[in-house]
Amino acid sequence: MTEHILDVRDLAVSFFTYAGEVQAVRGITWHLDRHETVALVGESGCGKSVTIQTVMGLLQSPPGRVTGGSIHFEGLDMLKLTPRELRSIQGNRMSMIFQDPLSYLNPTMRVGEQIAESYRLHHRVNRREAQAKVREMMELISFPEPERNMRAFPHQLSGGMRQRIMVAMALICSPGILFADEPTTALDVTIQAQIIELMNELKEKLDTSIVLITHDLGVVANMAERIYVMYAGKIVERGSAADIFYRPRHPYTWGLLQSVPRLDARQDRVFRYIPGTPPDLLNPPAGCPFAARCPYACRACAAYMPEETDFENAHACRCWLYHEGAEELRKKAEADWKEQGKEVGSHGEEGAS
Ligand code: SF4
Repeated sequence: MTEHILDVRDLAVSFFTYAGEVQAVRGITWHLDRHETVALVGESGCGKSVTIQTVMGLLQSPPGRVTGGSIHFEGLDMLKLTPRELRSIQGNRMSMIFQDPLSYLNPTMRVGEQIAESYRLHHRVNRREAQAKVREMMELISFPEPERNMRAFPHQLSGGMRQRIMVAMALICSPGILFADEPTTALDVTIQAQIIELMNELKEKLDTSIVLITHDLGVVANMAERIYVMYAGKIVERGSAADIFYRPRHPYTWGLLQSVPRLDARQDRVFRYIPGTPPDLLNPPAGCPFAARCPYACRACAAYMPEETDFENAHACRCWLYHEGAEELRKKAEADWKEQGKEVGSHGEEGAS
């Protein structure tokens, strides 16, 4: 049996506030294999960023606290490490790229020095050796005019160049895992494509695995091999990228896919959205958290959380539609999904664009 590089089981994380306990992550199980890219996908507030912060040991506590489950990274029990042990892993064996480089780069330090600092934190090297490593990294990320730009301050670079600097800082120690939290959200589409290509290239060259956190299914399609769809602190569907894009099963996944703007769709169908808002996690519903927004919700949905139904190829979802007693409703839901596919162009067929 292959050992996963990262193994998260039944993880539960809450924030203890004056208003009460906000159950941000509610018992999720997922894993990452070596050389793999997986994506955690969902709307803002679904728990994906909290999950990653917890895995990296960056959860702010208080008010955050892990209330259950386990996290193992290369066999290490991450929840039992001392702060010193955690620091030796953060930025070294596990690294992160954030969505807004300007908030994370030091405005008073030259970017070359900032990359070198990331390296020197974890390696006993002198200044000159660190600078040589930075030059090597700048070449690897194809940074234009590296000698000149290494001496620039963050505000003197474009958004795309700043994000390249973040990628260089995150990867300079060749981490086993790179977490990318909405890495391209603040960039325009052409630069987005360059950053995605760069991360895919570096993953191969540096032998890294990637966890991508995003609400943008376009980015996911270009990077991830497997996808976990999160909603209200739970994983509601999981599967290969092909299964999630071409054979989605959960009504929330259908909604997410329909929300991707389609320029080839009829004018009135270009922008679609999921009506309603996610539930309040101070008082999460007992049943399916999507029930208040789901067009196929029945009485059981609001009262009981469905178990996972397994399909082929490790594809699974949590939805009462796949209960044997819900055959008629399921057929109607699947027919609606196919019908909507015809309206927006095409979906449901592998190879369709
Ligand atoms: Fe909709 Fe019910 Fe399935 Fe939840 S369990 S997604 S409410 S059909």
